[in-house]
Amino acid sequence: MLNPLFLAQRAARFRSMAEGGPLDFLIVGGGISGAMLHDVLCRRGYRVAMVDKSDFASGTSQASGMLVWGGLLYLKNLDFATVASLCKARKALMEKCARQIKPLDIHYLTGGAPAASKAFVWAALQFYWLLGGCELDRPRFKKCPSGDALIYQEGMLCESDSRFVIDQIAAQDSEQSIALNHCRVATASRDSSHGLWRIGLNDELTGTEHQVTAKVLINAAGVWADELNRLAGLESRYKHVFSKGVYLAFPRGDSVEARIYPMLGRNDVLTHVPWGPVSMWGPTETSIQNMKAGFSADRDDVRFLLDQARRQLRGQHRAEDVVSIRCGIRPLVVPRNYNREEYPLSLSRRHQVEIHKEKMAITMYGGKFTSAMTVAEHTANLLKRWIPPARFSPPTRHHAPETRIHDGLGHAFVTPEWARDRESCATLEDYLRRRTNIAQWMPRMGLGHQNEQRDALLETASAFTDEPNHAEAMVCAYEQRVRSLYDPLLSA
Ligand SMILES: Cc1cc2nc3c(=O)[nH]c(=O)nc-3n(C[C@H](O)[C@H](O)[C@H](O)COP(=O)(O)OP(=O)(O)OC[C@H]3O[C@@H](n4cnc5c(N)ncnc54)[C@H](O)[C@@H]3O)c2cc1C
Repeated sequence: MLNPLFLAQRAARFRSMAEGGPLDFLIVGGGISGAMLHDVLCRRGYRVAMVDKSDFASGTSQASGMLVWGGLLYLKNLDFATVASLCKARKALMEKCARQIKPLDIHYLTGGAPAASKAFVWAALQFYWLLGGCELDRPRFKKCPSGDALIYQEGMLCESDSRFVIDQIAAQDSEQSIALNHCRVATASRDSSHGLWRIGLNDELTGTEHQVTAKVLINAAGVWADELNRLAGLESRYKHVFSKGVYLAFPRGDSVEARIYPMLGRNDVLTHVPWGPVSMWGPTETSIQNMKAGFSADRDDVRFLLDQARRQLRGQHRAEDVVSIRCGIRPLVVPRNYNREEYPLSLSRRHQVEIHKEKMAITMYGGKFTSAMTVAEHTANLLKRWIPPARFSPPTRHHAPETRIHDGLGHAFVTPEWARDRESCATLEDYLRRRTNIAQWMPRMGLGHQNEQRDALLETASAFTDEPNHAEAMVCAYEQRVRSLYDPLLSA
């Protein structure tokens, strides 16, 4: 049994979504695309709800490289338009979220490279800086004991990608603007005689079913966008193809520099970026057909990254040194009739907003963390042709969260009680993986190498239920997931 107060709040949200007439907009998907659009539409005074079938930010938005970047790598494809627009989006997002995004120096190591290729990288970085409107620090050369480097800047999310998404949502959650996680769209049909969408929702926590009506349906379901369009009977000129990306996190040690390395044997790069007590090494780039299998790393991904680390990084990078594994699928937009097989890096990372005019629906394809805010503003401008914004816009909430220093990590995280009452945090995993970084900064998803964090996890779990037996069951289920999904990836 989940915490009664939490369940009562949740029931009230379902009621306020269903009562009071049709919603202006129902957004499906609580990743960065949905959350940013939810934020913009709420600020414009609309009656909006956003639902996610799992936790907020539990899709691709929990697995990014956390860089707010202008797309340096896409210069290779001569895709200058995408790079220029990503640079513009980077500037806008860094200005709006100055407290949550900081500039990051990235070292491009040129140690053993021939002079001609150093000069080429130098010229490319200068060009990139110019395309970015000379906003961040100018690229510079640095002589280092570990090898010469060219240094350029990007933005980086300070806390984490999922935390960033949840902060956007928590600031807007009010009577006018509802956000519900663990709530799946099960049916969606257009009632053209009343000009409304009729949507069936399944509450994945309680098993109850709900009906809502909305004037406009917004598909922000990321890699599930095509699936949702099929469910809602929406045809599109586009579709997604999928590329899996995996990072390994190692103890950071004394490494404080973000670095970029060539991916040996492939025309791509890997990054090594400090993040709290760990450094993230990756990502891989693997084209996948089967999305279900793509959401977890496999032994080949781990082996590939360990091999690259052994050949390129200093220090120990063995399987037993891995602190955590991040894995996500990039949604890459292509025309509906696309059927080539190519290395996914050569596909554009642009976004595409498709308008299904007759049915009053919109699908958000592709895109990146970096561009999510500008895409949201662009989409909201399209939507105001259908429904003009209200003159009154509700104030946003700016409550400083209640935090506590984590004993093992020495870092302040939001408390489980605050996360439950103010951030719709329903489960132990929601808390350890997305409200805090505990599952990624402590080995074995926060349990510790020898389960030494089990008691701490049991105490955390008790915030999400009022029955001690249920807290114990939550921890057992979590342990089981670690043993079956995580441990085998790192075993010999
Ligand atoms: C390895 C990797 C590294 C990356 N690095 C960067 C980076 O450094 N910088 C950058 O800008 N971008 C980066 N990206 C890209 C970025 O992470 C994604 O573009 C972005 O997170 C996509 O967000 P989204 O909201 O569109 O999708 P998602 O985050 O996947 O959200 C979609 C949501 O829809 C929900 N949903 C689906 N179907 C339903 C349904 N029927 N009912 C209810 N809910 C539903 C899902 O549960 C999910 O939470 C990276 C991506 C990967 C994989």
